[in-house]
Amino acid sequence: MKYCRFQWEGKAHYGLVETAAGSDTITRLLLHPPEEIDDLEGLPSKRITPLSLAEASLLPPVRPSKIVCVGRNYREHAAELGNEVPAEPLLFFKPTSALLAPGQNIRRPQLSQKVDYEGELGVVIGKTCHKLQENDDVRPYILGYTCVNDVTARDIQKKDGQWTRGKGFDTFCPVGPLVTTELDPWAGVTVETRVNGEVRQHGSTKDFIFALDVVLRYISQVMTLFPGDLIATGTPQGVGPLVAGDVVEVSVEGIGVLRNPVVDE
Ligand code: MG
Repeated sequence: MKYCRFQWEGKAHYGLVETAAGSDTITRLLLHPPEEIDDLEGLPSKRITPLSLAEASLLPPVRPSKIVCVGRNYREHAAELGNEVPAEPLLFFKPTSALLAPGQNIRRPQLSQKVDYEGELGVVIGKTCHKLQENDDVRPYILGYTCVNDVTARDIQKKDGQWTRGKGFDTFCPVGPLVTTELDPWAGVTVETRVNGEVRQHGSTKDFIFALDVVLRYISQVMTLFPGDLIATGTPQGVGPLVAGDVVEVSVEGIGVLRNPVVDE
């Protein structure tokens, strides 16, 4: 199942997305937030006149209580920034105020001279989880997957020594365009970032240093994850700067393309 959130007749709605002949169409309104429902097959819905996903006024498809991110989860990316491969997952937060819908502008703040893209696979939590144990299967706690751009003010991240400001500006967390339940990151899915159509990052989730089950168990030892929470799983090598006028696209195989223009604040 695939779903999005969108503005329709003056209100925010969840929409069921169906893919036919390579094109994504919103065919039904979902009458409850998918993250609050156990049985997605039986989710109440209402048929609407089909609306192309590309023409819909999309909203971020998640409404997380928190956004937990993994730093340096690909070996080559750790190396390109001169960092050691961590012995345990390295975690940080992005604030929910940074969320940005597909198509909306990433604003480069005046405080930074170097704003980088980081294309990532996003995991959406579907069931409250706390202190998952070694033999617990993490899959029942995952609702689905989406694309995330972990936009980063690299100069501020380096200067501060911790990452709250560098990762936390408004518009620094584009997410979408949809959430799919039909993906197996353990098998390896391609994560690609393009700037103005040129490929800058091309990785596979099979190269994660820490697999998703390790990451979810690790986070859940510290904090309870709630339905709708978003995990950004780390970026492959090839990060680089954005300037005003650029259009950045993060695409994850099986999900779609998250496209955002860049402007100066
Ligand atoms: Mg990142």
